[in-house]
Amino acid sequence: MASSLGLMKMRHGRAKSKHVCTCVHTHVHIYTHTYIHKHTHTYIHTHTYIHTHIHRHTYIHTYIHTYIHTHIHIHTYVHTHTYKIYRKKFKLTVKSNEQLPPDTIKALLKNKINPTKIKVGINTFKSLKDGRVLIETNSREELEVLEKDINAKCEGKLEANSHKLRNPRLVVINIPEEITTENLEDTLIAQNTDVSLTQGDIVTKFCYETRQNTRNLVIEVSAKTRKTLIERRLKLGWQICKIEDYVVATRCYKCSRYNHRARDCRGEETCPLCAGKHKLKECTTNPQEYKCINCLSYNKHNQKNTICVNHTSLDKSCPSLRANLDKNRRNTDY
Ligand SMILES: [Zn+2]
Ligand SMILES: [Zn+2]
Ligand SMILES: [Zn+2]
Repeated sequence: MASSLGLMKMRHGRAKSKHVCTCVHTHVHIYTHTYIHKHTHTYIHTHTYIHTHIHRHTYIHTYIHTYIHTHIHIHTYVHTHTYKIYRKKFKLTVKSNEQLPPDTIKALLKNKINPTKIKVGINTFKSLKDGRVLIETNSREELEVLEKDINAKCEGKLEANSHKLRNPRLVVINIPEEITTENLEDTLIAQNTDVSLTQGDIVTKFCYETRQNTRNLVIEVSAKTRKTLIERRLKLGWQICKIEDYVVATRCYKCSRYNHRARDCRGEETCPLCAGKHKLKECTTNPQEYKCINCLSYNKHNQKNTICVNHTSLDKSCPSLRANLDKNRRNTDY
């Protein structure tokens, strides 16, 4: 376009010119991106280049040249996603019945328990601030063996308690009006005969209303029941409902920190937007200066490996929120 405009100028501005040249260049790019497999993308790039070159020499000849060039690249590459694998933790804590210090508990355990003999791999063996000793093993089976062994051999002196994983929670999305926490299980069993469930497999927890004014219902099930239910559509009344994992992180409305509620809060009032010492509605901070209190405290304790703090503590992509959700997933028996 620029060149033909230039030539127009030449035609009018320089009237004495004996010839006129007009060039038309057309480029057509066609990009096709085909998604074939979850991890393999086939990328087809079709590049069609049409070059129409028109030369008109007024006195001599008229020359028209049309040039069509089609160029096809088929390029396949493997796209690898890196998923963070969260290893499940199998923990137990050992406490002393006689207020023995953690180092003495450790010495006692080393003296009485032989992990090689009972075939238990120890991942963690450390003292906790509250005076207990924490031990982590590779599997649930190993944890049970170790717990029994400690309680049998150190009876009266030490007490081992394994950390129980929480049962998974699921959310049934957009339930019909007539469904309640009381009748969900009966309705589900009656209308979904393809899902082999029996009474007692589901514990209904609570219903909540969404911003779109629909209702969701949260249930608690065993790991086995979760497997039969997840990624299914449930027939309830005249509706078909989706079911998903329900993982949440509790954030306090007063101090904006995780894992407790405002009624149990022992922290200071902290603004969820700017991390200042005031309520959210009293915030006058410019959005460019918003800061996340949870990421700020993370950085305070991890000075070598700091994270971005320029977001509110309500931000769904906050790294501290993500870490809390992951922790909750790790503590769940999936
Ligand atoms: Zn709080
Ligand atoms: Zn504020
Ligand atoms: Zn954050």
